[in-house]
Amino acid sequence: MSWRATILTLFPEMFPGPLGHSLAGDAFARGAWALEARQIRDHGIGRHRKVDDTPAGGGPGMVMRADVLAAALDAAAPAGDERPRLLMSPRGRPLIQGRVRELASGPGVVVLCGRFEGVDERVIAGRGLEEVSVGDYVLSGGEVAALALLDSCVRLLPGVMGAQDSGTEESFEGGLLEYPHYTRPRDWEDRPIPDVLLSGDHAAIARWRRGEAVRITAERRPDLCPPPRKPAQR
Ligand code: SAH
Repeated sequence: MSWRATILTLFPEMFPGPLGHSLAGDAFARGAWALEARQIRDHGIGRHRKVDDTPAGGGPGMVMRADVLAAALDAAAPAGDERPRLLMSPRGRPLIQGRVRELASGPGVVVLCGRFEGVDERVIAGRGLEEVSVGDYVLSGGEVAALALLDSCVRLLPGVMGAQDSGTEESFEGGLLEYPHYTRPRDWEDRPIPDVLLSGDHAAIARWRRGEAVRITAERRPDLCPPPRKPAQR
């Protein structure tokens, strides 16, 4: 069975969107992954299929109802569906490559996309949702965040990326940001390609790339760098 994503959203027409193109799109057409975007409103209340209501305690905006979301989740992923249930949320644990690898190596995901002020807190605990953030900023809805999450997973599925290795040498794999890349022309606006990359000395190239990766990571993302080893105790 292929890796399967089910998205719960008020805007199913946003999917697959950009994931219908390029590598993810080719893989989708080949059946390497499957996508189902489901309309939350199908489980809305009454003639107007209402999905939200005013916040208890007052305040601006609208909150998505727990009963509606639970009905949508239960219909999309009945008992026995082993896929993790995620809620895109700025309050979630920020998504990192390690979690992406775990998700990509599992059976797929069920993803709930919030809108308005967010979702009734009770559905999070009631349905065991894992809150996932794509960064410390606020989007207008979970759909763009879900597309980012899906893209990061799908490109890791077997046979999706062209070059076998290109998944293992990248930023965050091995805890470092990636080394810089160059290609032709050799000289461009007085900025030549570093000599070592043209030397043909593969060991020297590997050393240089590793050094650059460490330098760039230390400069830009010291939080990713492993802590310096403690000096040996006497
Ligand atoms: N009132 C909320 C923000 C709601 S934004 C708060 O202050 O925390 C509406 C929806 O967009 C959210 O329910 C969530 O599904 C999505 N969203 C917004 N920012 C996000 C982020 N950084 N990561 C993941 N999802 C996000």
